[in-house]
Amino acid sequence: MAVERTEVAEKICERTMFSVGMKRAEQGVHGFMLPVPKLASPTQVLVRVKEVGLDGTDFTMVGHDKKDIAEGRDEIVIGHEMMGIVEEIGPNVVSFKPGDNVTITVRRGCGLCWPCKQGKSDYCLTGQFKERGLHKLDGFLTKYAVEEEANIVKLQPGTEKYGILVEPLSIAEKALEQVRRVQARVPPACGHTAHKWTRDHWGACKTALVIGGGTLGCLTAALLRINGVTTFATSRTPEESFKVKMLRKLGCDYMRVGESGEGIEKVVEHCQRDRHLDIIIEAAGASQLALSIIPYMSRSSVYVLTGIPRGEQLATMDTNRLLRHIVRYNQAIVGSVNSNRTHFEMAVDDILKINEKFGNILDEFVTNRFKLSEYKQAFAYESKDALKIAIEID
Ligand SMILES: [Zn+2]
Ligand SMILES: [Zn+2]
Repeated sequence: MAVERTEVAEKICERTMFSVGMKRAEQGVHGFMLPVPKLASPTQVLVRVKEVGLDGTDFTMVGHDKKDIAEGRDEIVIGHEMMGIVEEIGPNVVSFKPGDNVTITVRRGCGLCWPCKQGKSDYCLTGQFKERGLHKLDGFLTKYAVEEEANIVKLQPGTEKYGILVEPLSIAEKALEQVRRVQARVPPACGHTAHKWTRDHWGACKTALVIGGGTLGCLTAALLRINGVTTFATSRTPEESFKVKMLRKLGCDYMRVGESGEGIEKVVEHCQRDRHLDIIIEAAGASQLALSIIPYMSRSSVYVLTGIPRGEQLATMDTNRLLRHIVRYNQAIVGSVNSNRTHFEMAVDDILKINEKFGNILDEFVTNRFKLSEYKQAFAYESKDALKIAIEID
C-alpha cells in the first residue's frame, strides 16, 4: 500500500510543471505551475525541453509589458529558441523516436491562406498566425512541450548543443535567401559567370555590410562568411567588446557608429572604397539609421531589413533624394520576417559549416547560462558583452 501511495503522489507531482512567462493581470516575468501537456493526436510528439535562448524580443516583451495571451488563458509561457529531447511519440509519428535531439519551429499558420497551407506561414497573408512563446501559444520556458511532428526539426549529430541557435540562424537564412532571390535579377557585378547569385559559390567577389552586433548580426555575418562574402559589420558596440571580438573572429571588418547612428554614411562609403557593396543587412531595428543609408547604397544592390522597432519615430528627410536613388540605381529594399521549416533545416546544416570554418566559434555564442529557477536574474541581466543568454531546464 505504501508503495502505491508513493507512486500516486509522484504521478500527481508530475502532472504539473514549473513554467515561466507573462500573466494577463500582472506586469513583468513570472513563474507559475501548468499541467504537463499530453499527446492529443497520433502525429504529435512530447518533447522534454533542455535549453531555451532569450532574445531581444523576449526582453522587450517583459520590459515593456507587451504580451499576446490566448483568449480564455491568464498567462503565456515565453521563450521561443529551444533545444529538447523527444520523450514520447504518437503512433503515426514517422521521423522521430524517443531520445532524438530536436528543436521546434515558432510560427503556426492561420490555416486559411495559401502560403500557410503550403508550410510557408512566414509569408502568412491574413496575419492570423500564432507563435509559440510570442503570440497566443505557450513557448518553451517549461519542462515539456507537445508539438506536431511537422513542426519539429531534428538536430543532426554535432549540432545538438547548438539547438537554441537554430531559430536565430534560421532568421539569417531567410534574409540571405531573400538576397539571392532578389539579386538573381541582376548580373553579378564582378562579371564571373561562376559567381551568379543562383550558383553554389554565389558569395565570391561579393561584399556585404551587416548593421547590428547582436546574435542575429553575428549569425548573419557567419553565414555570409561561410559563403565567401567579404563582410563588414557596424553597430554602436565599442571596439573592445566581446561581440566585436566575435565579429572579427568571423573575419569581418568592424566600424563603430555613434549612439544615434552618426557616421553610418562614412561606414557605407568605407565599404565602397574599392568595392561594390552588393548587400546590406539591417539587424538592429533602428529605423532612422536604417532609412538614412538608402541614399548611399551601391547601384543594383539589395538591402534586407529584419529589425522591428517599437513605438513611434518621427524624422525629416529628403524624400526626393530617397526616391531618386532607389529608382535610378535599381535598388531593392526588402523586409524579411520569421522563417519556416526549410530555413530551420538550412540552419542545422550550416551550424556544422560555421563551426568547421571558424574553429567551433558557436561554442562561444552562449555567454551566460541560468537555471529556470533563476529566471528573474536572467531577465534582469544586462551587459554590453552578453551575446546569447540561455536558460537551462531541469
Ligand atoms: Zn496564413
Ligand atoms: Zn566574381
